[in-house]
Amino acid sequence: MNTQTYKISGMHCASCASIIQKTVEKVDGVESIDVNPVTETAKIVFDEKKTNLKNLSQRIEPLGYSFIIDSEIGDDSPEIDHDHGAMMTRSKVEKLSQIKKMKFRLFTALPIAAFSIFVMSWHILSEIGLASEMSGDLSNISSNLLPLMATYILFFVGRPYIVGFYRFIRHGKANMDSLIGMGTSVAYFYSVLILVFEKYLERYLNTGVDYFDITIVVITFVALGQFLEAKSKLKTGEAIEKLIDLQAKKALIMDNDGEKEVDIDKVSPGNIIIIKPGSKIPVDGKVINGSSFVDESIITGEPMPVKKVPGDDVVAGTLNTNGTFSFRAEKVGAQTLLANIIRMVEAAQSSKAPIQALADKISSVFVPSVLVVSILVFLLWVSVGSYMLGFSVALPNALTALIGILVIACPCALGLATPTAIIVGVGMGAKEGILIKDAATLEKLHEVDTVVFDKTGTITKGKPEVIDIKNMSGDREDQLISILASLENKSEHPIASAIVEYAKLKNITILDVDFFEAIKGKGVKGKIGGLDYFAGNQKLISDLGVKFDDRIIKDWTLAGKTPIIISSRDKILGAVSVSDAIKLESKKAVNDLRNMGIELIMLTGDDRNTAGAISREIGIDQVIAEVLPEQKMEKVDLLQSKGHIVAMAGDGVNDAPALAKADVGIAMGTGTDVAIETAGITLLRGDISKLAKAIKLSKLTMRGIRQNLFWAFIYNLVGIPIAAGILYPFFGIMLSPIFAGLAMAFSSVSVVSNSLRLKRVKL
Ligand code: ADP
Ligand code: MG
Repeated sequence: MNTQTYKISGMHCASCASIIQKTVEKVDGVESIDVNPVTETAKIVFDEKKTNLKNLSQRIEPLGYSFIIDSEIGDDSPEIDHDHGAMMTRSKVEKLSQIKKMKFRLFTALPIAAFSIFVMSWHILSEIGLASEMSGDLSNISSNLLPLMATYILFFVGRPYIVGFYRFIRHGKANMDSLIGMGTSVAYFYSVLILVFEKYLERYLNTGVDYFDITIVVITFVALGQFLEAKSKLKTGEAIEKLIDLQAKKALIMDNDGEKEVDIDKVSPGNIIIIKPGSKIPVDGKVINGSSFVDESIITGEPMPVKKVPGDDVVAGTLNTNGTFSFRAEKVGAQTLLANIIRMVEAAQSSKAPIQALADKISSVFVPSVLVVSILVFLLWVSVGSYMLGFSVALPNALTALIGILVIACPCALGLATPTAIIVGVGMGAKEGILIKDAATLEKLHEVDTVVFDKTGTITKGKPEVIDIKNMSGDREDQLISILASLENKSEHPIASAIVEYAKLKNITILDVDFFEAIKGKGVKGKIGGLDYFAGNQKLISDLGVKFDDRIIKDWTLAGKTPIIISSRDKILGAVSVSDAIKLESKKAVNDLRNMGIELIMLTGDDRNTAGAISREIGIDQVIAEVLPEQKMEKVDLLQSKGHIVAMAGDGVNDAPALAKADVGIAMGTGTDVAIETAGITLLRGDISKLAKAIKLSKLTMRGIRQNLFWAFIYNLVGIPIAAGILYPFFGIMLSPIFAGLAMAFSSVSVVSNSLRLKRVKL
């Protein structure tokens, strides 16, 4: 199976998306397809043995669409390279040239529309006695001009709609273009018929009523709406463009011949890169020389530049202030954090939120139903209307209703409601250092009422330091530490690195270890010099059955320090305490979340007293300590079974099952890859205080989507019956199709601009 995302050309609207979806789905070998009407992309899962992209593209070409073959925009392998940005720019250039064409057509159409509105209003005003009759000359000129103008507008400006109508006749697949095309063609050709055969038709019809002006104005309004919509749609994707723009194009590398500037794609891991004041960091790496402050705001959202000294990590796309330093490249091209972020944001923006399923379902049955309804209403007017009012009054009303319904019922706004808001929401998150994996996560997050925190690495920095040592072995202290550090040298736990670092600092030898084993949630064990050694928490020691007096460690744990007890098979050799500083932002995170009315729980494998001391300090009152990794998941499950919607924040491999189980998993960007891959949201730099912002963002986005859906539905719900003539029996009013055109344009524009409004909110 092959999963890839492709750009689609020829798309206008949500109904296009469902046509493409339905057509491609049916092809043998296609497992699934997801079309996003805003990004104009399709994510297709297909069997390469049975079909290929060219074949799939041919299926949709008769319907007016195609897949852009050379521009595959990302698959599941990390092979994306520097061309990625170029591809995005290319698609933007295409979009811009499309918009330019739309603009040209529109500018020719607007004066014509203004003229016909002027003529129309004059007629109406004179009919109700508010203006004098139009002079014979003027009336003559306008009645000769309008048919010509309407011909131009319908066949030039309205070309896409005519084509859509033609496609509907040939292939039986209607999209919103078909509706507009059918409505305006009916108006136009009926008017032409009257014009040409006026003499013959006079006896049966009121030949004084034609629809040239309506053809002109409706097409102009719809085109205006689409133009404004296309322009704002470009804006929804600005966040990701900014990210792509952040990538540096060149790097200054240092080799045997001195400094030289190379293209970014020539940089490989291990190269030494020199950063001058004010320049951009081109790839990810570690500082080896010099120091400076680096502005990382684009990655973390934090405005304060961060101090960088040898040993610190620097990230591609961030901006040096005024120091000079050099660093060793570690990750280049598609491997950099920035490239990963771009990929993730893009995937999230084109993913589908569950709430959209409803809108999709509706818009896919909408177009055919509207066609049927409009024809039924037409027939009703012609039959019942003629019976009650006479044919010559009923027919114009029948036509007005038909045209009006076809125009107003376009489900365009409905298709834009969810994806525009998701794109803006995900983009805003990225700006704040909140990476959201998919639309479903963003949707779920607003319902969260309970947040479960892991302690080490999530609330604390995850960089513990050795504080106390108690030697009970009878040997020298450095021999005890040597044993402990040798065991920990094989472990990946944050505690282990603290001990190994301490040993290195004191020049203590690391010995060979056989049969090393990490005991999940408890500690480690291994054989050194033929003897078994164990290091870990009290659980480990009680499993061993060795006698242990916990008074030794009580003082430590009450002070929030974590004890590591070292033991042989039959005797305690000593204990070490490590302390892990609490992150500066943890307190704020806890406060903000509590103010939002969210229940907070700390879940940790660490000692009960240690955990208690830390939770008291930051203000979490529910603590579940000494849990094994699989129990973390069970606790989440338990909370869920009580009806809570649970978010779990963690960083470690041991948190991964709980992250997966939670309704929303939140990983620290500083944490392990497993945690990041499992979680739906990653907080860059492990800034836990962003969690409250993420929830707020989700609430805002969902509110935006609900408003959008409401507006999209209300237009159709109210518009269709009015267009059908429901007001006629009561007030004698038929809605002019012109207002239908206006309403239709206004609904899409209002939906897109409502989504863009999100951008201005301060999180
Ligand atoms: P958490 O990340 O919540 O602290 P873990 O399951 O990673 O949970 O660890 C639980 C406890 O197990 C630690 O607090 C520590 O006491 C012990 N432990 C785990 N790994 C080690 C190790 N490598 N060395 C010593 N103790 C360890
Ligand atoms: Mg942890």
